[in-house]
Amino acid sequence: MRRMMAAMPALILDGKIAAAAVLTELRPAIRDLDPQLVVVQVGDDPASASYIRQKMQSCKQVGMRHRHEHLPADTSADTLFRLIESLNADDDVTGFILQLPLPAHLQESVPLFLRSIEPAKDVDGFTAYNLGKVFLSTEYEHLPPATPAGVLLLLDHYHIPVQGKHAVIVGHSNIVGKPLSVMLLNRNATVTTCHIYTQDLAAHTRMADILCVAVGKPGLITADMVKHDAVVVDIGITRTDAGLKGDVDFGAVQEKAAAITPVPGGVGPMTVASLIRNCVHAAQRQRSS
Ligand code: NAP
Repeated sequence: MRRMMAAMPALILDGKIAAAAVLTELRPAIRDLDPQLVVVQVGDDPASASYIRQKMQSCKQVGMRHRHEHLPADTSADTLFRLIESLNADDDVTGFILQLPLPAHLQESVPLFLRSIEPAKDVDGFTAYNLGKVFLSTEYEHLPPATPAGVLLLLDHYHIPVQGKHAVIVGHSNIVGKPLSVMLLNRNATVTTCHIYTQDLAAHTRMADILCVAVGKPGLITADMVKHDAVVVDIGITRTDAGLKGDVDFGAVQEKAAAITPVPGGVGPMTVASLIRNCVHAAQRQRSS
């Protein structure tokens, strides 16, 4: 990574560029394996609609078969279970995802829906089986959760070393903060995971060589909470009247950090690239079994 001088603004970790590089690398495998991704959406959450558009667009761009199964907001749990079962059984569908959040009446059954997804086709990496494998070592990260895997692909793209660094993760959700902490640990970082109960958050974030924030509270991380020359990865996305906002005060922090991701255009495109990478890995394992 380019070494920053004190007053230089941070290197921008451009997720669009890094994602394009990942997708280019995947093209030959997509041609050979011909995977198909199905995205299941229930209802009309506007953020979900926008994420799905990005996913479909990237599939198209990279020449991967894709289908959008869009169910009405009043879909019953039984209907959704039946759709999941039919996707599990369809050999032509190599991977599928259930776009979250679901409408309120289905939300409490999310763990059951996720449990009913065949792990070999779980390209979001949300099932207990695939999350559990992440705990073993890098060799078992076959279908890791797409966002943490996307963060690591971004760091790799910019040759940012992880081993021996102190990585501080803010947020401990099952799909972002927690698996990212474990995946960084797998790569020999020293990891601190912070959350809502963490006392004196700033004391922890100031220690970070690599600071990853996945909370969903715009402006949570201010410049005084960041060490000089830290690498700052802003995973948070919040829709505001002024557009999409990350969790980090980008303008002030970029004056202090060595490298920083923008929102939008940072981790978002990497999540999509990592999802497509998982589709390739899922197809590879299905074809060879
Ligand atoms: P989540 O399930 O709501 O988790 C948020 C985490 O932040 C929880 O662990 C919560 O702790 C913690 N938290 C809340 N307030 C905090 C505070 N003041 N200080 C420290 N920690 C605090 O959300 P998520 O699914 O992980 O997503 C997090 C953010 O990333 C959201 O903005 C989401 O939109 C975004 N995201 C972006 C991408 C992408 O591709 N860029 C992908 C996924 C998610 P408790 O659980 O203890 O309350």
